[in-house]
Amino acid sequence: MSSQNRQLQIFFLPFMAHGHMIPFTDLVMLFAAKGVKTTIITTTLNVPHISKVTERAKSLGYEINILVTYFPSVEAGLPEGCESFDQASSPDMQFKFFTATTMLREPLAHLLQAHRPDCLVADMFFPWVTDVAAAFGIPRIVFHGTCVFSLSATEHIRLYEPHKKVSSDSEPFVIPNFPGEIKLTRSQMPDFVRQETGFSKFYSESRETELKCYGVIVNSFYELESAYADHYTKVLGRRAWHVGPISLRNRGTIDKTERGKKACIDDNECLAWLNSKKPNSVVYICFGSVTNFGSSQLLEIATGLEASGQQFIWVVRKEKKNEEEKEDWLPEGFEKRMEGKGLIIRGWAPQVLILDHEAIGGFVTHCGWNSTLESVCAGVPMVTWPVAAEQFYNEKLLTQILRIGIGVGAQKWARLVGDFVKREAIEKAVREIIVGDKADEMRSRAKALAESGRKAVEKGGSSDADLNALIQELSACALKTCK
Ligand code: UDP
Repeated sequence: MSSQNRQLQIFFLPFMAHGHMIPFTDLVMLFAAKGVKTTIITTTLNVPHISKVTERAKSLGYEINILVTYFPSVEAGLPEGCESFDQASSPDMQFKFFTATTMLREPLAHLLQAHRPDCLVADMFFPWVTDVAAAFGIPRIVFHGTCVFSLSATEHIRLYEPHKKVSSDSEPFVIPNFPGEIKLTRSQMPDFVRQETGFSKFYSESRETELKCYGVIVNSFYELESAYADHYTKVLGRRAWHVGPISLRNRGTIDKTERGKKACIDDNECLAWLNSKKPNSVVYICFGSVTNFGSSQLLEIATGLEASGQQFIWVVRKEKKNEEEKEDWLPEGFEKRMEGKGLIIRGWAPQVLILDHEAIGGFVTHCGWNSTLESVCAGVPMVTWPVAAEQFYNEKLLTQILRIGIGVGAQKWARLVGDFVKREAIEKAVREIIVGDKADEMRSRAKALAESGRKAVEKGGSSDADLNALIQELSACALKTCK
């Protein structure tokens, strides 16, 4: 085979969480659609979450394979079968989950030795991968599940430590040397940044990896956060390729519904319900795959929603065991009163299918980056309710920079459960995102961003050009010294 025709081979290693596996699978498709030979490495119980998508891709002629490795849940002190981060239902389990992933070092080394790919794209949560890949002379790229605004903001906080110069958790500080006068408080920051925890060292290593590795792939598009994209490369010195919004790969109904887990509602039933509503008249409420509110917070949401008088689809991470089961998180007679007006999905929703429907006028979100970008792509403004991870930074991007979000008032970072938000605040925010001039203005800004995101991934758009440039560079590299 001539060097010109040599097919580039890339391995992908996603973190085992739906919020990471979903965009990773989309990313793999992007590369495969450009003629790259792709392989996803994952663990046994995660295969069903991606296999339908990969089978469909294969039938389209894409080169896409799955390599399976064992996940050491029991060895790390987790229950057998705990292979997805959403099953880690306490902070202690979450830490053990991260520990389990570090035990994948050796199996990964074996796979790299056996297959010798040209490049390894691995999740930000695997800092140890860089050294493993380097041992085989394979360039390692980090795939970041978030935006460059948040990546740069967290890096500035790590470098300048402004949170150590305020006198209380609630005193605001400005992120130093950072565009946009962004204010935060200590209580909005992750626990492992506020103080040394088991996770702090791991977190620092993951940030330092950005400088040690070949570069960073970002699920965002240049036009969405151009000042921060420039800042990330020119001031912070990272190499980055913006290839998003990668969820726009999902154009057909089946692509939109078969993401992550199997949805707990039939697509046709869901679409029929939405089709019966006027444009921009329904609020969609969902807090991603990890957040797990307690009954009192859910009850508060139900009461706030009812008081707002708005129509809604509300996704709750609780499944009903039988019709008779009494659910303590719902007010008496709630579903009966809301019949035709509100739909509760217990479990997993076809989120992209719902957001893309013209009936959806607003999204109450925890500001996970995938959800945020999916909402931008659908031109839907958001009520921002950050809970944990980097979600408080994402909120600032939405409310202060892009001005397509209104905050519900969550002030405290807390794993899984977040800050407690009262019914009155929920009622007010839900009404404000659906009706009134402010809602219309935010919606028209969101629609303009959706249009620019769509253009970015089209042939010749900024993200398409970045992806092509990366593939060309890796191909040239594979032929020369990198391998
Ligand atoms: N998601 C979904 N149905 C659900 C909940 C989540 O399809 O019921 C998808 C959502 O579309 C997004 C991902 O799961 O792609 C969640 O990622 P995000 O970054 O928003 O939040 P995380 O789960 O990582 O907190």
